[in-house]
Amino acid sequence: MSQETIFTKIINREIPASIVYEDDDTLAFRDINPQAPFHVLIIPKKAIATINDINEDNAHLVGNLYVAAAKIAKQNNFADDGYRVVMNCNEHGGQTVYHIHLHMLAGKEMGWPPYQDTKKETI
Ligand code: AMP
Repeated sequence: MSQETIFTKIINREIPASIVYEDDDTLAFRDINPQAPFHVLIIPKKAIATINDINEDNAHLVGNLYVAAAKIAKQNNFADDGYRVVMNCNEHGGQTVYHIHLHMLAGKEMGWPPYQDTKKETI
């Protein structure tokens, strides 16, 4: 399943974005609502809706997202200090745009765990 999202419009230059990295398969641009001093979204140009749609045929596109992350970290001088990449999936994961994307957050020390919960139940 892959439907057009706002990210398709960014890939096709139909709406503007602050692009920080591009190659044949991958695009990275500033998040419009940054949650860290440096917050970019790294996306495959071929739309994949959610992590549940990753398979043996498209896994290389997901690997490329991490290759791009490593390049962006070096280019922006936070590779050594560190950073966080995260991909949300569906409602409980907090996904709002159904075209997979790595959030890359850098420029400050991240907290862990990423959410507050009073219960410690496991499934
Ligand atoms: P998620 O909630 O994990 O699906 O992340 C979607 C992200 O896309 C959010 O962090 C939004 O701020 C970001 N976003 C939505 N529209 C745009 C846009 N036009 N340009 C840049 N970032 C966007």
